Amino acid sequence: MQRILILGGGVGGTLTANLLVRKLRRQLKAGEVAITVVDQTGQHTYQPGFMYIAMGGERADKLQRPERGLLDSRVNLVVGQVEKVDEPTRIVHLKDGERLGYDYLVLATGSRILPEAIEHFDTEAQHFYTAEAALKLRKALDGFKGGRIVVAIAGMPYKCPPAPLEVSFLIEAELRQRGLRQASEVHFCSPIGRAFTIESVSEMATPIFEQKGIELHTFFNVETVDAERHVIGSLEGEELPYDLLILVPPHKGQQFLIDSGLAPAPGGWLPTDRATLQVGGRPNMFALGDATDLPLSKAGSTAHFEAPVVTERIVAAIEGREPDHKHGDYLGKVMCFFEIGDGKGTLLQFDYEHPPRPPKPNQVWHLGKIVFNKTYWHTVPKGRV
Ligand SMILES: Cc1cc2nc3c(=O)[nH]c(=O)nc-3n(C[C@H](O)[C@H](O)[C@H](O)COP(=O)(O)OP(=O)(O)OC[C@H]3O[C@@H](n4cnc5c(N)ncnc54)[C@H](O)[C@@H]3O)c2cc1C
Repeated sequence: MQRILILGGGVGGTLTANLLVRKLRRQLKAGEVAITVVDQTGQHTYQPGFMYIAMGGERADKLQRPERGLLDSRVNLVVGQVEKVDEPTRIVHLKDGERLGYDYLVLATGSRILPEAIEHFDTEAQHFYTAEAALKLRKALDGFKGGRIVVAIAGMPYKCPPAPLEVSFLIEAELRQRGLRQASEVHFCSPIGRAFTIESVSEMATPIFEQKGIELHTFFNVETVDAERHVIGSLEGEELPYDLLILVPPHKGQQFLIDSGLAPAPGGWLPTDRATLQVGGRPNMFALGDATDLPLSKAGSTAHFEAPVVTERIVAAIEGREPDHKHGDYLGKVMCFFEIGDGKGTLLQFDYEHPPRPPKPNQVWHLGKIVFNKTYWHTVPKGRV
């Protein structure tokens, strides 16, 4: 019996499990293979919806579903928190004492946010990286009567790189609609020397910042929050006052990956081969989604396009053949809708070799994002797109 153990029941873990079932149907029926997903919550959360709790009337209860209902019935689900991976014995230890052996291990445990790493974050800053925080931000925006809104980033990498730009654009549009634009300033602080990491996206976004009158600050990596003066300080030595601060919290990989010696401290990102998705050259260990150290967007769509590669590589190993050419290597494909505000959006589609060439913002791509959000439960986790 070959045991495939998938840690994490988010986008990457769920999709990989369901794709594996499709390709290993015969072996599963014959009892030659077992597929198990371990997740600490047993719930699957659609995180892109958090932005719409803050910006568009979305409800938290619509963004979470029991993991069991999304997994094929032939996949075992264990609800529990992973504490350690013991490589020599190939055993995963859970917090409640349960131990799970594996022949193939898939690491899809995402990223974690650490607002507490910045002093005064909890009392001074808003964010939208959890449902609760997004609701709190919505309330702060509802109570906003004018002043200076600062959107900034407290550390790279972070999930969904376009999200803080989208939030800046959406807030600017909302202020206009509420008649508060004249009484307000919107500032966006980019940690690098341009608006966005990818040059072609930066070229698209910079004139939009200008048209909307949003002030762009470059090389501004937030390091401190001065709660008395309501001022943020950057690593680069600049200061910027705010009335309402929206700060993307620092992100890291899961602590147990560091504790198990699989990922280096302090980041905890798994050293992952850009094509095979193997972890540190191990033939039986794969990573996908936010957990990897790949220099790509930490996005659900990245996990979505990586899952078929992990699947094909495990199936090929079990069947004793070479991975097929079409699905055996990840080519860096990512696809993200990008909100511009005023009912418009664009699309970022790229891979390792081809940078994005975002189309002129229009209503179609905004609607595309809304439709994708609504249909997510029936499509991505089940492997239908
Ligand atoms: C506000 C916001 C907007 C976003 N917008 C977009 C977007 O427009 N497009 C896009 O593509 N992506 C977007 N994303 C990013 C996307 O949600 C993530 O990149 C994606 O969820 C990553 O998938 P994953 O499978 O790697 O991790 P996750 O989906 O985070 O799943 C990880 C799972 O691992 C489990 N886990 C973690 N540690 C343990 C442990 N120790 N033991 C057991 N289980 C554990 C967790 O419970 C979780 O279920 C957005 C994210 C946010 C926060």
